[in-house]
Amino acid sequence: MFFDNAEGMVFRPPSEANSLILRVTIGCSHNTCTFCGMYHNTAFRIRPDAEITGLIHKTARLYPDQRRVFLADGNALVLPTNRLLEIMRQLHEAFPKLARITCYGGPHDILRKTPEELETLHKAGLQIIYLGIESGDDIVLTNVHKGVTAAEMTAAGQKVLAAGIKLSAMVILGLGGKTRTAEHALNTAKIVNAINPTMLGALTLMLHQGTALRDSAERGEFFPLSPYEILQEIKMLVENIDVTHPCLFRSTHVSNFLPLAGTLPKDKARLLDDIDKVLLIFQNQTDPTYNARNQY
Ligand code: SF4
Repeated sequence: MFFDNAEGMVFRPPSEANSLILRVTIGCSHNTCTFCGMYHNTAFRIRPDAEITGLIHKTARLYPDQRRVFLADGNALVLPTNRLLEIMRQLHEAFPKLARITCYGGPHDILRKTPEELETLHKAGLQIIYLGIESGDDIVLTNVHKGVTAAEMTAAGQKVLAAGIKLSAMVILGLGGKTRTAEHALNTAKIVNAINPTMLGALTLMLHQGTALRDSAERGEFFPLSPYEILQEIKMLVENIDVTHPCLFRSTHVSNFLPLAGTLPKDKARLLDDIDKVLLIFQNQTDPTYNARNQY
């Protein structure tokens, strides 16, 4: 449910399907990741207070019983803490039944905030931060222009959890291509273990039209994984995840070849068994050297 969508496309995590989407910023202040085309044609800006207040009042008249709000766009946490707190105050006032506020958080935005600021945001109602880890491998992160190291990403994720906020982390299968699939899987498992997010989503790389990574694949400089290789990669990832606190694992995005869902570490053996069964079917029925470049 969107407050407005007049300026560029609006994106939200699948789990925010029932939330009001309040765009406190337009676009993404980073906007250089080579695999991401979400805000390519959208100039980044922070919305003025009056614009946000107007949207809150307008929408509260239409949906007074709304219980969930997602602060968009790409990295709402870029806003100064005092502005976020004021927006959240207004939301609680306008929606008396409001029970949950969530947003995407960029690693640098999280690191810029003090532990006390994050705790204050949590007390004001911020319940979940969605963090795109993408990969735990520094070379992959550099190659895709994520603008952050694995160590910085780890610190950002740990900081969110230390403030009492739930962390929903995303990683992208196949992001290292054929040349770094093992390093991508192993180092991504390592960062997941170090952070131990509340939720972990594993998406599969989609080479969207107009992205730098797609151009690179078309020039023969980036070699995407085949479905078989993606399954091998997720197997290696899951095998090496050893979290100590329960982590809700989902690989059920529309981009995924094999839907997987469970809680780690409890369901690890079952998830690996599910992957093995499908790998066996591939081994029996298909040529594992199939080139994924035919997919797009
Ligand atoms: S992946 Fe996230 S940080 Fe990177 S450009 Fe897209 S929205 Fe911005």
